[in-house]
Amino acid sequence: MDCIFCKIIAGEIPCDKVYEDEKVLCFNDIAPKAPIHVLAVPKKHTANLLEVGDDKEMLNDINYAIKKVAEKMNIAENGFKTVINTGTDGGQSVNHLHFHILGGKKFGEDL
Ligand code: AMP
Repeated sequence: MDCIFCKIIAGEIPCDKVYEDEKVLCFNDIAPKAPIHVLAVPKKHTANLLEVGDDKEMLNDINYAIKKVAEKMNIAENGFKTVINTGTDGGQSVNHLHFHILGGKKFGEDL
């Protein structure tokens, strides 16, 4: 399968790793949109949020990893934004589920 995030998970393409456990890999976005911009990616290939289906554990695993990233990057206290793009209209460019974790600045209240 020609999936760039699967290749990163497999170690075939390097990444700037922030956190890793058995189920999730988190690494710095190559084109950051904020001072802190980390991607939380499930290791099991899943195209997008809809494809998670009834795998509730996957979302729990990602949520746990996001908490670990927030603590490690010192953004837990001040807060951060999470973004999940789904499909063409959602602006998804990599078809492997990922949560953007954006922090290190104060965002406005608008989406
Ligand atoms: P999305 O547009 O929501 O699918 O987000 C994909 C994100 O993946 C973008 O923010 C890209 O900058 C990021 N990205 C693409 N390739 C890499 C890579 N090799 N390493 C780190 N981030 C990447």
